[in-house]
Amino acid sequence: MSNESLANLLKEERRFAPPAELAASANVTADAYAQASEDRLAFWAEQARRLSWAVEPTETLDWSNPPFAKWFADGKLNVAYNCVDRHVEAGNGDRVAIHFEGEPGDSRAITYAQLKDEVSRAANALQELGVAKGDRVAVYLPMIPEAVVAMLACARIGAAHSVVFGGFSADAVASRIKDADAKVVITADGGYRRGKPSALKPAIDEALTKVDGVSSVLVVRRTGEEVAWTEGRDVWWHELVDGQSAEHTPEAHDAEQPLFILYTSGTTGKPKGILHTSGGYLTQASFTHNAVFDLKPETDVYWCTADIGWVTGHSYIVYGPLSNGATQVIYEGTPDTPHQGRMFEIVQKYGVTVLYTAPTLIRTWMKWGDSIPAQFDLTSLRVLGSVGEPINPEAWIWYREHIGANRTPIVDTWWQTETGAIMISPLPGVTETKPGSAQRALPGIAATVVDDEAREVPNGSGGYLVLTEPWPSMLRTIWGDDQRYVDTYWSRFEGRYFAGDGAKKDEDGDIWLLGRVDDVMLVSGHNISTTEVESALVGHPAVAESAVVGATDATTGQAIVAFVILRGTATDSAELIADLRNHVGRTLGPIAKPKQIKVVSELPKTRSGKIMRRLLRDIAEGREVGDTTTLADSSVMNLIQSQLPAAGTEG
Ligand code: ATP
Ligand code: MG
Repeated sequence: MSNESLANLLKEERRFAPPAELAASANVTADAYAQASEDRLAFWAEQARRLSWAVEPTETLDWSNPPFAKWFADGKLNVAYNCVDRHVEAGNGDRVAIHFEGEPGDSRAITYAQLKDEVSRAANALQELGVAKGDRVAVYLPMIPEAVVAMLACARIGAAHSVVFGGFSADAVASRIKDADAKVVITADGGYRRGKPSALKPAIDEALTKVDGVSSVLVVRRTGEEVAWTEGRDVWWHELVDGQSAEHTPEAHDAEQPLFILYTSGTTGKPKGILHTSGGYLTQASFTHNAVFDLKPETDVYWCTADIGWVTGHSYIVYGPLSNGATQVIYEGTPDTPHQGRMFEIVQKYGVTVLYTAPTLIRTWMKWGDSIPAQFDLTSLRVLGSVGEPINPEAWIWYREHIGANRTPIVDTWWQTETGAIMISPLPGVTETKPGSAQRALPGIAATVVDDEAREVPNGSGGYLVLTEPWPSMLRTIWGDDQRYVDTYWSRFEGRYFAGDGAKKDEDGDIWLLGRVDDVMLVSGHNISTTEVESALVGHPAVAESAVVGATDATTGQAIVAFVILRGTATDSAELIADLRNHVGRTLGPIAKPKQIKVVSELPKTRSGKIMRRLLRDIAEGREVGDTTTLADSSVMNLIQSQLPAAGTEG
């Protein structure tokens, strides 16, 4: 961005008060903000008491060597004990921890007592394979309960897991195994996706021809498909784990014991191995899951639709919900297999009360049409969450209306792999929500928006999102590269964490995320966020989804080019395109009118559902398309190009 602040174009006046009943019994009330601002560290010390410590910490934060933080450093705990054993000891062993729904329709209910036995067996098995405290284990699994068990088994013995997306290629897996120097890999023959078995083990076999140091591969049998086998290295899960003792003593580890490495999704560049540790991470994962979703473990049925391979799966499928003793749904497959109502059918089947998903799925549901959710009973839902990208106000409203029956609060949660847990979000029993805004830093979290010179911007202006105080679940470093950690996050603004996202404060001081700083457009001297133009387009009744990029332009610096996916009922025409341009002009002002609008049927997305705008920028500027290896579906770029008029035929 140039010196000028990000323009503030979008006005959104709709407001939604928390439901009275929810407000009256909310886990966290407005007092928490006051309490935390009075004494932030005392607030976090109190939240740490949500956990069971083998040795209670006396020290909260050590920030003597910034930006390298230590939280609760003299405390000791076992993360797996906190997620499993203590619930059994408290008499809740019969509570269902996981309702697993496989894509083919098979299902399993796993109680906390069963989970404790399974995690203990897996911990014994890993130790038999020679995994010791401090080692790294790579996990490459579909969305099956064994993924959760594998992660907790590592945590139990003090080995750090590195979960790699099941959709990543052999090369991507190999580079991550190598970077983390993993000793053991846990995988499966495959999983089910789009109605058929999808193999996983071949990618591991190929990856291991490229890296050394992996002594064993533990293989879960999920699909029953034939797999290649390397004797002496490969071991079946059911042969090794099932025969182990269900007794395993959870050793107390230091609060700063590494818990996991997770590589960022690589939307913007070479993946970074983000390192998270134990006590502070679990404290904030647990607190935020309780506060933001108002989770009541006795009655709620919680469902986070994320994949275990990204951070939302770590913090809000494994560590947050299980540390809180929640009952949750885990679904293996894709949202349209075997039909486009599959997710709603699952909500109905299990009586899901809290649903946490991503804007990309919400906009896909919009595209498929309102009549699909209307066929299912969704009345059990009471809180809806969103994560991963800015949610456009119109998608937010659709989510509330068609999934939440105009009743449920929506929590738009901003955070990153690096932050480990939710940082900015409404609280469902406290906040009067605004469609499209993540609103305010959670109690104990300090965030603001600054300009190029690190000056806090006034209300009504935009700039860069920064975090101004360390937080318990912050990344500790980039694995093996302290200098890159300092350079990437702590060097842009002295003493502050630079998130890489643009944001604005509205007249009330509430925060609106405006997308990545790299995506901001500079049009005739104005910084315009892609998010605001996309939101304006999605605000038109014909548009389900859109992606906006700035393409180099001789007269304006950059010109706005929009790619749109139409809703089921709309058709592409010159009139519609003119209408869309005018609609954006009316909503945001003439400066934001796209120069070109292209109708497409798909957008390039990462496996976590984020739009990869840099690839669209390549198309808009007539360049050869860059690296597509992190795309969920690499054929999408060919499809988009085939749907566009040949270069030069459009002005
Ligand atoms: P990489 O850093 O490798 O490019 P990534 O940033 O896509 O990968 P994540 O850590 O999963 O990987 O995503 C965090 C980013 O997602 C945030 O920095 C922000 O851009 C976006 N994001 C997440 N939640 C929200 C939200 N509620 N509103 C707006 N943006 C969000
Ligand atoms: Mg990022």
